[in-house]
Amino acid sequence: MDIKAYLTCKKPRRSNRLVEREKENKTHKTIKYGPLGVFDVLPIELKFHILKYLSIEELSILTIASKAMRNLVEGYRVTRPIGRHLIPTPHPHIQLPQEKHMEYFKQYQRLGLLMKRSTCLYATKDRLKLVNDFLTMIMCCNSNVCVSPEKCLALSCFGKFMHTVIAGWDDSECQRAFDAICQHTSILKNMKIVINSKPGIHGKLERETRQFFRKVFLDHCPTVQDRAFWLSRILKPWPMVHQAKILYLLYGASFDTGDILWYEMCESTPANSEESVKYFGDIANAIQTLHSQTKEWSEDDIISVVDELTSLPEEWLAENVSHLLLMCGDSITSKLMTSKAINGRTVELCSITTSFCLVCVKNNFSLNYVVTLIQNIIQVMENPKERIHFINSMMDMFKELILDIHEFSESDETHEGELFFLVSALSEFTKRLIQVAFKNFLV
Ligand SMILES: [Zn+2]
Repeated sequence: MDIKAYLTCKKPRRSNRLVEREKENKTHKTIKYGPLGVFDVLPIELKFHILKYLSIEELSILTIASKAMRNLVEGYRVTRPIGRHLIPTPHPHIQLPQEKHMEYFKQYQRLGLLMKRSTCLYATKDRLKLVNDFLTMIMCCNSNVCVSPEKCLALSCFGKFMHTVIAGWDDSECQRAFDAICQHTSILKNMKIVINSKPGIHGKLERETRQFFRKVFLDHCPTVQDRAFWLSRILKPWPMVHQAKILYLLYGASFDTGDILWYEMCESTPANSEESVKYFGDIANAIQTLHSQTKEWSEDDIISVVDELTSLPEEWLAENVSHLLLMCGDSITSKLMTSKAINGRTVELCSITTSFCLVCVKNNFSLNYVVTLIQNIIQVMENPKERIHFINSMMDMFKELILDIHEFSESDETHEGELFFLVSALSEFTKRLIQVAFKNFLV
């Protein structure tokens, strides 16, 4: 054994000038050629300490600067999960004033961008695991500080975050994200219980299911196409009758507490235009959204869903059906009505068209729309007898409705307003018809 190999120097040097110079050269080289430049010579604790002073945007820009920088930021992100960057303060489980919401969602959007950029080289499976970890960290049931799960922003914040992370992913990857999140939270189990039970039995589960799907997948979609995509993911695995129920579960009328008004459509009509928007606005919008997704939803699918929807949990009042259709737009209404005409469902047609007149009068809409609709219906009826029968039945229905309501209004004053609207509807409708019939003499 050569003992000399273990001796650093045969003779101690009096000056360490050369050692210093060597050190200096090394530092100089590291700064010049190292992947992180000046940053490379700092110890890791100091690097992380500096990163602490950067904003989320600055961090996310750093991740796309170089691979080494991405690794550094990713290391920081993973090892400092409760750093101020990763859960913005105040905590999303406390209630914030409305005007603060957007600002807060923006923070989560930035956070999503950081996650998206820093994990861009990972496999989809690993990225989804990170998304799910984030959800676990933020969900209400994991928080001791959640004051009210109905009003809490946590799920909405996660929705914003998730949509930012998966922006630009192709449809199959988005489907995987949907499956992974549903599996992780077992939300589909809740959905199954709700769907297979009588409406309103599991009020809490219904509220939770609605909130989860709305806040995570639907409310933060950047475009209508995106919303149609996610809505299709939620609805498509179920049979048609369940699709209608889920649609109502997600977008149907609800109390301020979040409880769903399942029987309202079968029992009462909206008192004013504000209430009618509350009743039908969201659900009509959702139906239009699906209608725009022609790849997955044929017109017949939409008609079937609307048909199921309006007999759920029992047959809706005709006025409510008309109101919903009016909000769904011409194309859907026309298709639904002509399909009823082809199938010989004259009584339904009459009750919806008379109600259309009533809704138009109540909301100051023009009745020209109803006249055009009736023209479309008559055109698809093959037999002239059928057409006459439809027109006569419609006018008879007006008569019956007026007589019925008149009888009620004698014993109950609340129906007096209804009688006025019904008679006005008939007279307005007749005016339009007379104008059409005598149009050559009127100009
Ligand atoms: Zn909460």
